[in-house]
Amino acid sequence: KPYLRLEGIRKQFGNTTVLHNVNLDIREGELVTLLGPSGCGKSTLLRCIAGLTDLDGGHILLDSKDIVNLPPRSREIGMVFQSYALFPNLSVSENIEYGMKMRGVSKEARRKRSAELLELIDLGEKRDAYPQQLSGGQQQRVALARSLAVQPKVLLLDEPLSALDARIRKSLRSEIREIQKKFNITTIFVTHDQEEALTLSDRVCLMNKGSIVQQGTPEELYAIP
Ligand code: ADP
Ligand code: ADP
Repeated sequence: KPYLRLEGIRKQFGNTTVLHNVNLDIREGELVTLLGPSGCGKSTLLRCIAGLTDLDGGHILLDSKDIVNLPPRSREIGMVFQSYALFPNLSVSENIEYGMKMRGVSKEARRKRSAELLELIDLGEKRDAYPQQLSGGQQQRVALARSLAVQPKVLLLDEPLSALDARIRKSLRSEIREIQKKFNITTIFVTHDQEEALTLSDRVCLMNKGSIVQQGTPEELYAIP
């Protein structure tokens, strides 16, 4: 039984259909990448799942419940974007604790959780720093910690490594995979980088022009002549 099921997802902007009948089942704890050229609809699909964009058709079942009519916050979905999108006027720990604070988590519990996450991303000594004092890779680790802080059911990563230089990209790639496995969090990772998709994921979905045109494990896709 899939943990996250996308069923007949359709989205258009004006007269242009950007997503055509997208169907996808994801198991609990699985990391699936969406790989495809710029403009094929990857970001739009993630935004639909997160509730940041309305669908024109289809269903999104999370843990057997249709979440299509829920507002973003009630969907329990975390998202990390290409641009780090941290709050510039909040410190690292305040950024990580923000979502918990909004949900009424006690100060003590917030501190404990953010300390654990800071240790996990190896940025404990930066807890009082501000985002602009961090490198791009560090900011992206904080963004990841911030999205995990509220214990989402699903994590959506929209080209989280694209703005980083190649060396940092590789180390952060394995760090993301480690954290994803440790939390056993169901994850969709969007990228246009084939190597990234093949090294990172349990399953790769190739997207083109608003549809998933092929999918398989990295091994299966490598075997395609
Ligand atoms: P990708 O993430 O694969 O690069 P996007 O989902 O960002 O693709 O975009 C898919 C298509 O939808 C593109 O042609 C893009 O220009 C278009 N698009 C995305 N968002 C909007 C929007 N808010 N209004 C109109 N067109 C959009
Ligand atoms: P990405 O880097 O994910 O492909 P884009 O740079 O295409 O994202 O889009 C950034 C923002 O602009 C998104 O909010 C997207 O919905 C919006 N957008 C993209 N294409 C269009 C478009 N043709 N018309 C209006 N908004 C768009």
